[in-house]
Amino acid sequence: MFTLSNVCANKEPVLSKRYLILMEKIALRSDVTIPRRIKLLYCKNCKRLYKDNSRIRITAKTLKITCIACGDIRRIVLN
Ligand SMILES: [Zn+2]
Repeated sequence: MFTLSNVCANKEPVLSKRYLILMEKIALRSDVTIPRRIKLLYCKNCKRLYKDNSRIRITAKTLKITCIACGDIRRIVLN
């Protein structure tokens, strides 16, 4: 499902967003957690893939991803 969203991200941003929402719904219903590596690839706030609409800052121990589309900032602690 995520691959599908990824494939059409460039051509159809709206469709890509729909697939991500659908993916979350399916995961919720079927009691499956979306892998962390996939979760890190899109903005939770506006459901857009981090491709060219994000800024990434790396400090000593944290990774900061800023979504340009909605301004949402995610901090990820690296270990
Ligand atoms: Zn966003």
